Amino acid sequence: MEFYGLFGESLSHSLSPTIHRRIYSAWGIKAAYKCFEIPSLELKSAVDALRTLSIAGVNVTIPYKEQIISYLDELSQLSKELQAVNTIKNDHGKLIGYNTDYAGFDLIFKRRNWSVKNRRVTVLGTGGAAKTVIAYLRDQQAEEIAVISRSPERFEDTKMITYIDYDALDTLSGDILINTTPVGMYPYIDETPAKESVIRSFDTLIDLIYNPNKTRFLSLGEKNGKETANGLDMLVGQAVRSVEIWQDISIESSLVDELISELQRNGIDI
Ligand code: NAP
Repeated sequence: MEFYGLFGESLSHSLSPTIHRRIYSAWGIKAAYKCFEIPSLELKSAVDALRTLSIAGVNVTIPYKEQIISYLDELSQLSKELQAVNTIKNDHGKLIGYNTDYAGFDLIFKRRNWSVKNRRVTVLGTGGAAKTVIAYLRDQQAEEIAVISRSPERFEDTKMITYIDYDALDTLSGDILINTTPVGMYPYIDETPAKESVIRSFDTLIDLIYNPNKTRFLSLGEKNGKETANGLDMLVGQAVRSVEIWQDISIESSLVDELISELQRNGIDI
């Protein structure tokens, strides 16, 4: 039996144990997955405990994806580039950090045959998830990226990326609008990070939130005939990629599709 888990601060609503146990059972992996709520001051000793207790790997979530880096032995190229780790593998005592959120975000596009190539994309928010999203958009050759922040002056524009505020969003149009802020997440389900007039100016809406399963942002999109996707594929995609890294296997897409349908059928609202 191998032991895995999730490091974070507040995990009572996490879907990760359900997703991981379902993957283990489908693959005949003898493993257990447990949430570990860790106070900030205990993070280093929690990482040390991975070695002491021979825990084979953990996922890492808010607020530790950046802070945990300094306690690891090695980083994958991608996690180094993004400076964010959401997966740790314990390789005979050597702790290696990975980022599987990137693969999770990619799954949203793969499952729908969507592409960002040559498209004008607007990203709401500048936190950890936004960094992963922006790197993906850049790698996949989006035509231009506008990033909306409550305080854009903290960031420097590049040739491809422009940082603007929410007032400027009112006059912006584009192809894809992505919410990476927590606005609209349970229990604040009546909130939306962009008003309907803004939503009308885009063709496709993606919300990284998966609880509720349909945010007000996505409902307004549907009402206006837009393509929409929530964050469930990303959540499942990052979990699957973590298991692939831990077990050194490749999980077929049919199992991933099945798992996502099952979660949708059973309702993921918490
Ligand atoms: P984070 O690091 O706290 O960043 C969130 C960003 O959103 C902030 O940097 C901020 O940008 C903006 N923001 C925060 N509160 C806001 C408010 N009240 N109004 C407007 N903007 C606000 O969080 P994160 O880790 O990036 O996660 C963000 C969201 O993505 C969460 O809802 C999380 O659940 C979701 N997520 C989903 C997945 C998935 O697998 N589906 C994975 C990762 C994250 P500015 O200060 O620049 O405005």
